[in-house]
Amino acid sequence: MNGLMMNQPLLIKSIIEFCDKVNPDVEIVSVTADNPRHRYTYRDAFARSRQLANVIAGWGLQQGDRIATLAWNDYRHFEAYYGVCASGYVCHTINPRLFPEQVEYIINHAEDQWIFIDRDFLPLAEGVAASCPTVKGWVVMTDREHMPDTSLDNVFCYEELLEGMSDQFDWPELDENAACALCYTSGTTGNPKGVLYSHRSTIIHAYASVMPDLLGLSCQDVVLPIVPMFHVNAWGNPYACPMVGAKLVFPGSKMGDGAELTRLINEEGVTMSAGVPTVWLGLLAHLRDTGESIESLKRIIVGGAACPPSLMHAMDEQGVETRIGWGMTEMSPLGSVNSLTPAVAALPTEERDRMRLKAGRPVFGVEMKITDDKGNELPWDGVAFGSLKVRGPWICSNYYKLDGSDAHAEEGWFETGDVATIDQHGYMAITDRTKDVIKSGGEWISSIEVENAAVGHPLVAEAAVIGRFHPKWSERPLLIIVRDKGGEHLTAPEVLQFMEGKIAKWWMPEAVEFIDAIPHTATGKIQKTELREIFKDFEFQ
Ligand code: AMP
Repeated sequence: MNGLMMNQPLLIKSIIEFCDKVNPDVEIVSVTADNPRHRYTYRDAFARSRQLANVIAGWGLQQGDRIATLAWNDYRHFEAYYGVCASGYVCHTINPRLFPEQVEYIINHAEDQWIFIDRDFLPLAEGVAASCPTVKGWVVMTDREHMPDTSLDNVFCYEELLEGMSDQFDWPELDENAACALCYTSGTTGNPKGVLYSHRSTIIHAYASVMPDLLGLSCQDVVLPIVPMFHVNAWGNPYACPMVGAKLVFPGSKMGDGAELTRLINEEGVTMSAGVPTVWLGLLAHLRDTGESIESLKRIIVGGAACPPSLMHAMDEQGVETRIGWGMTEMSPLGSVNSLTPAVAALPTEERDRMRLKAGRPVFGVEMKITDDKGNELPWDGVAFGSLKVRGPWICSNYYKLDGSDAHAEEGWFETGDVATIDQHGYMAITDRTKDVIKSGGEWISSIEVENAAVGHPLVAEAAVIGRFHPKWSERPLLIIVRDKGGEHLTAPEVLQFMEGKIAKWWMPEAVEFIDAIPHTATGKIQKTELREIFKDFEFQ
């Protein structure tokens, strides 16, 4: 017997319709290339999304066609998210930090029809446009006064297109499983792979993300998504905030600018923010150099890469709670968030800090398991390392136009490519990427824990560990370090001495090398393939 409940489809247009009625006066503040502090309300934003929908309707596209964005986090990008998705097209957010060849590849793979673009990315677009035959036109996200010169064909000005357009639009009644957004993962090897989100997955993910132990969002919050809107839909913030009526503050191109971020936090009263560790390290350096503080900020979500303990402690000193989150483009992205259960909060400081550094407990809606090489499930004892697999309604069931990926080899599960432990309290800790694991004498070493121990040294700016051949142990860890300001004379023995007692004895690096900069991927992750290439001739003495 079925329940007698309405079968209302979960659609992005319902966020617009709800927010327009319930939270219309809540503000969206943005830094843009043509305005250092643009502000308006959700009511204004959605009226302009409807104007945009009328513009798009004139382009003669088919439902499901891809319309791309090459843009920073700001209000026009927000309008495009809603205008494109709610009218039944797929919003493909292109990561401008990818190599031009990759950008060209994904535009062609997605068969993008139109591209909304910020001025900053015109040189990138000009370089690839001739090789992207599906693109019918480009819309520069600015006003007439700021329209730049460009060699692109079929270029339009965003504000000119909107001018005079009706702000009434009947959003189509779509199937909730219809695609709404597309984001390519920037793997370190091979071509990027497309993750195609649906209306249903996006709404359920946004719903889950606001739970108190996750992002914990409410109408009291002012949210600064520093994580780019081209990196897994800014972790769902642009959907979650209008759902609860939280004020949104978009940093535009200033996401790496500690001074501007501090100003935005203090002047707009930001309470919650989300970003990768690099962003927070930049902000903390600014606070350290200037003595400024960030009083209104209550908590941050740190994800996308391992969070160094020093970051968490520095945030503690600022009175900001750090919640580590783990996820992937393939997971919309939320998989786990670390908030303390009463039992863990009551642990002695050192033990509690160790727990806080884990990737957290699974979000309801994400099932997890860890398995050994043969696919056998491993215990949740905090000790066994295994390949981390997940399933749930906001996890990709396949990649776009790519049948049967290895990641989906086990029926019904997605193999994350991460290696993890899960303890008896359900706290998961990422120890490595599968491709980066170091096996010393047949036993796995967690490179993330070794890196965290090294980064704790006050004169270490960044650390990475890779495995190198060792005649006795087959592999041993090589620690690669970028010295921080003032650390010019830091030596290998000093670093190793500092790390003693912080990790298992046999995890201690066999050698330490210093380097000027560690290579990163387009989403800010350490590029270990390149490090292995740089140190391919390295031999332990
Ligand atoms: P992306 O799809 O670009 O968001 O990258 C996802 C990958 O980032 C994951 O598979 C992890 O390897 C890594 N990652 C994300 N969050 C964390 C975290 N909290 N700790 C360690 N690695 C993380």
